[in-house]
Amino acid sequence: MSKIEIKEDVCAGCGFCASSKPEIFCMSDSGIAQVTKQPDNTQNLQELADMCPFGAIEVVD
Ligand code: SF4
Repeated sequence: MSKIEIKEDVCAGCGFCASSKPEIFCMSDSGIAQVTKQPDNTQNLQELADMCPFGAIEVVD
């Protein structure tokens, strides 16, 4: 099943994902985004990935 992951070396720590979708993302103590809960299947994973202006959110199989 597909899921989303944060590319930690690409994340700029802007916080946009965590403020837009706090049910899915949070910011770690090191200032990098984390996925706290995979989105349910009503959400378009690619749309979530496209939210990141730095391309740090990816859809993986
Ligand atoms: S929107 Fe992208 S760059 Fe900003 S915190 Fe989230 S993953 Fe990192």
